Amino acid sequence: MGINRRDFIKLLAGTGGIALFGKNVNVWADEHVTSLHESFGVIVDTTLCVGCRSCEKACNQINQDLPRKASEFYKDNSMLEKRRRMAADSYTVVNRYNNPGNSGKPVYVKFQCMHCTDPACVSACIVGALTKESNGAIRYDPWKCIGCRYCMAACPFQVPAYEYNNAMTPQVRKCTFCFEQRTSKGKAPACVQACPMEVMTFGKRRELIKIAKRRIEKHPDRYIPHLYGEHELGGTSWMYLSSLPFEEIDFPNLGYISPPSYTEPIQHAIFKHFIPPLTLFAVLGGLMWFLKPKVVKSESVLEEENSEK
Ligand code: SF4
Ligand code: SF4
Ligand code: SF4
Repeated sequence: MGINRRDFIKLLAGTGGIALFGKNVNVWADEHVTSLHESFGVIVDTTLCVGCRSCEKACNQINQDLPRKASEFYKDNSMLEKRRRMAADSYTVVNRYNNPGNSGKPVYVKFQCMHCTDPACVSACIVGALTKESNGAIRYDPWKCIGCRYCMAACPFQVPAYEYNNAMTPQVRKCTFCFEQRTSKGKAPACVQACPMEVMTFGKRRELIKIAKRRIEKHPDRYIPHLYGEHELGGTSWMYLSSLPFEEIDFPNLGYISPPSYTEPIQHAIFKHFIPPLTLFAVLGGLMWFLKPKVVKSESVLEEENSEK
């Protein structure tokens, strides 16, 4: 028998789940709004990007624990012929997209962890190996990680990558928002600083939203009227401006509610009512799975698209 997301939520409501956590959603929302106002972020203006990949190179250089890549790798334009995804050895990638309005000027998009305001990865980690800092960064502690990879399953953007090639001490890898080296000291991330086209702007998230909206207002011919990440999943620290609809540049069409806003109140309510942990993880696992957008491209779809090019 098929069951969709709506049926699943109804099922929870029918079993008393919604009644249990209804009040807590408001508490969660208040805390969430407070943290949104204090954090930092980045606007990525994809209309300015020329695909030089200096940002990728800067990321590799600042993250000393990543395998070193030769400068030639970042000059190799053939890398732009296939769609890539973040990997255990690359915290950020730049992809190229056709521009139907101007075939001579493709659109380039830099991807990395979005540093969600209410991150599903942090919520899914049962040992607290992922934490959210007050400046917006999501950090990872390899000493706490037990390798369960729940964070990978929970991330709506499929960002965290696992070191499958490291048999002895595998870690989950993802963009750090340059927390240790730069953003904890108020400095812009290395990739932002390295960009010769000033594609990215680092600052207080609330100020960035104003800047982005002014750009959209001033240049309605250049941008679609949508700042991706302002509201998606309750807001992300990295936000995007684009000339193309976001679904055409591989950004999933997500709702405005973050997955933890559904799962955490249930978690708290279940603990409050002494329901065994096994039940908790069965319910939360099912809910995460149903809420996770199915539009993010799987590895096999990406491979298929790349082979068709
Ligand atoms: S994009 Fe994924 S890995 Fe990054 S903070 Fe959001 S849920 Fe976590
Ligand atoms: S913020 Fe730092 S870790 Fe993240 S992509 Fe940029 S350079 Fe890499
Ligand atoms: S460094 Fe700037 S212009 Fe070059 S690929 Fe990265 S974001 Fe685009």
